[in-house]
Amino acid sequence: MSTVLNSTRQWQDEDRDHHLHPFTDINVLKKKGARMITRGEGVYLWDSEGEKIIDGMAGLWCVGLGYGRKELSAAAARQMDQLAYYNTFFQTSTMPATELSGLLAEVTPEGFNHVFYGCSGSESNDTVVRLVWRYWDMRGKPGKKTIIGRINGYHGSTLAGASLGGMGFMHAQGPLPLPGFVHIEQPHWYVNGGDLSPAEYGLKAARALEEKIAELGAETIGAFIGEPIQGAGGVIVPPETYWPEIERICRANDILLISDEVICGFGRTGNWFGCETFGFEPDIMTMAKGMSSGYAPISGVMVKDHIVETIGDGGEFAHGYTYSGHPVSCAVALANITILKDEKIIDIVRTDTGPYFQKRLGEFADHPLIGEVRGKGLVGAVQIARDKKSRALFDDVGRVGGICRDHCFENGLIMRASGDSMLLSPPLVVTRAEIDEMMDKARMCLDLTARDVGLS
Ligand SMILES: *Cc1c(COP(=O)(O)O)cnc(C)c1O
Repeated sequence: MSTVLNSTRQWQDEDRDHHLHPFTDINVLKKKGARMITRGEGVYLWDSEGEKIIDGMAGLWCVGLGYGRKELSAAAARQMDQLAYYNTFFQTSTMPATELSGLLAEVTPEGFNHVFYGCSGSESNDTVVRLVWRYWDMRGKPGKKTIIGRINGYHGSTLAGASLGGMGFMHAQGPLPLPGFVHIEQPHWYVNGGDLSPAEYGLKAARALEEKIAELGAETIGAFIGEPIQGAGGVIVPPETYWPEIERICRANDILLISDEVICGFGRTGNWFGCETFGFEPDIMTMAKGMSSGYAPISGVMVKDHIVETIGDGGEFAHGYTYSGHPVSCAVALANITILKDEKIIDIVRTDTGPYFQKRLGEFADHPLIGEVRGKGLVGAVQIARDKKSRALFDDVGRVGGICRDHCFENGLIMRASGDSMLLSPPLVVTRAEIDEMMDKARMCLDLTARDVGLS
């Protein structure tokens, strides 16, 4: 026992002394020490104390195939031995980068035939901004440079990603967003819908885009970007009326429509891409996370043919990353997507595990702490509310979610808190029995939280 404890302490001390963590309060971490995750298998993780944890979040929404898939590690090892690195600049390519491009054209919706690679969702959203600007220059409309996103949207943490996103707490630490990035209301019925039905509210939320375009002038707007379902913002599932209306408004105003598929892509909602689930056709899609199940860093921007042709007429597109199309990451993504196809994992999510997950999640609608249950496929959230009837939230949003998250942590379940929403997004290979285990633990943690805040 004591040697285990000692070694965890040593790791924590070393980490505290030298490692700056993303989205972390440095001083809080110094007191608590990091939890050291040491091993993963399927939907389970183990920490350095030997505790077994069920991962309800698939890492950061990315580990679709679960941990420990040997086909993926073997693909990486094979590629490293054969050709660990070469770039895709200056008219060169590698076999994995080329083969993956063809496979992506096959699995993405009609009209998407080209991909531009990066290593993260944030990087690829920077690429999106560069592509949009270049496209409108080539179309002879250089004034169309402003991009509209949404309050509480998340598009990454680089300067462009944070500007596209609408996270107030991130903007507060900049001068952010950068000029040329504006935001409209998020389609969050529970909080903003008032007396409207979800369907009515979906149209109203979409028409905020029309109003913003009228205010700024369509001749200044290049694109609108949104996640089909907002992930980090709290798994905000828009009403069904929302996306078709957004698409109509973009077409009517000659504005590019960008779907940030970093979370929804590669099966999360029961189809290959979230835009298919919600029935709209974007011009550009950003993909990352599930593309390689997180086993290697890779991301991509899928670009519709008409944009490729327009930009192609402009000579060199002066943009790219040293690791664009990294052969090892591409080999891993190829193996990942091949398994998704061969094992029909997305069909299983759509017809079996997704509906079962939503049914079990829906049982929380009766819980005294829960105001709303939202989700699609294998992603979902329960909204903590102070008063179910009036839909009133707790005043200090985030406090009760934090209490619940701590109970999950103590009880071997990873569930993420976003404000006062508790989120689940398990690996796509999760079984019904594992869903039951997650839901039973989640119920116990919600019960403990309800007791703590006097709502049980
Ligand atoms: C995670 C995420 C990003 C950013 O991806 P990184 O790989 O963390 O840079 C962008 N968009 C969405 C929707 C995301 O969830």
